[in-house]
Amino acid sequence: MDEDTATLLLGLEGVAVAEAALDEAGNPVLALVTAWRDARCCPSCGMRSTRSLGLVITRPRDLPLAGRPTVLARTKRRRACGNTACARASFTESVPQIPPRTRLTGRLRSAVGAAVADGGRTVIQSARDHEVSWPTAHASFALHAASALPAETPPVEHLGIDEIRRGKPRFRQVVTDDGDAWEVTADRWHVGFCDLSGGAGLLGQVEGRTAATASAWLDAQTDAWRAGVRVAAIDMCTVFKAAVRESLPHAVLVVDRFHLAVGQHRAPRTPPPRHPPAARPTRPQGQSRVGTSQQAHPLRSADARETSGSDGR
Ligand SMILES: [Zn+2]
Repeated sequence: MDEDTATLLLGLEGVAVAEAALDEAGNPVLALVTAWRDARCCPSCGMRSTRSLGLVITRPRDLPLAGRPTVLARTKRRRACGNTACARASFTESVPQIPPRTRLTGRLRSAVGAAVADGGRTVIQSARDHEVSWPTAHASFALHAASALPAETPPVEHLGIDEIRRGKPRFRQVVTDDGDAWEVTADRWHVGFCDLSGGAGLLGQVEGRTAATASAWLDAQTDAWRAGVRVAAIDMCTVFKAAVRESLPHAVLVVDRFHLAVGQHRAPRTPPPRHPPAARPTRPQGQSRVGTSQQAHPLRSADARETSGSDGR
């Protein structure tokens, strides 16, 4: 197979196969060179570089080729920017499918993210299937999801804010002026923001359950978006009340019915009046607790009679 055919079969935009071989396990090993005109252009100023500073070899990870894991050895040049007005002195050639400072090809990253976002796989399962780490799989999923999300939060008139519990908290020990202390690195509580009437669904979810956390998300939206929120519905939580007062001072603050009902249900009730001992229902002497239960349920009582008859008891 010649190199042009190998390049065609690999189909990785921006690179060409300079040499193709098989390793001991019979998997393809491909030596790649840059085949992208703009790879010579400085990423800061766009000027075409004419001076090479040497070669660099990297080993980007890619999708299997015809079901076989493929080893890629990519040779690229480090180049000097000839523009004296440019702040960047040097750069390495990059191609669309292998951006700078990334070890995965774009199509492998897309496949890892799509397996979670569209294929319904968990992050850890996608990581195992594609032989990447959990953080890499999660970053790929976040990238994939971000491309599907609108650039700006859709306008909302009725905003719902509530907390969501997720996973377990994680801590790390830090040294402070007052001695050792534990710092939360992963909060089990998140705050979710949703559209209650416009159909936009979940708008955002941020880690933590403080007024500052909720306010930070609200403050990150545009002025027009905040001005469009007429009503903010929360539970009876002073944290969310403070966030709305701080970031949406014009909005009408309401407590939703669900949390009112739940709050009422959980509130301590007035204790019932004490009955005199004689008025309490008492179990007749000699009757077992099981017998009392059966009397309270006619069907179960009938079953019990049949069982009793068949057993001869
Ligand atoms: Zn430059």
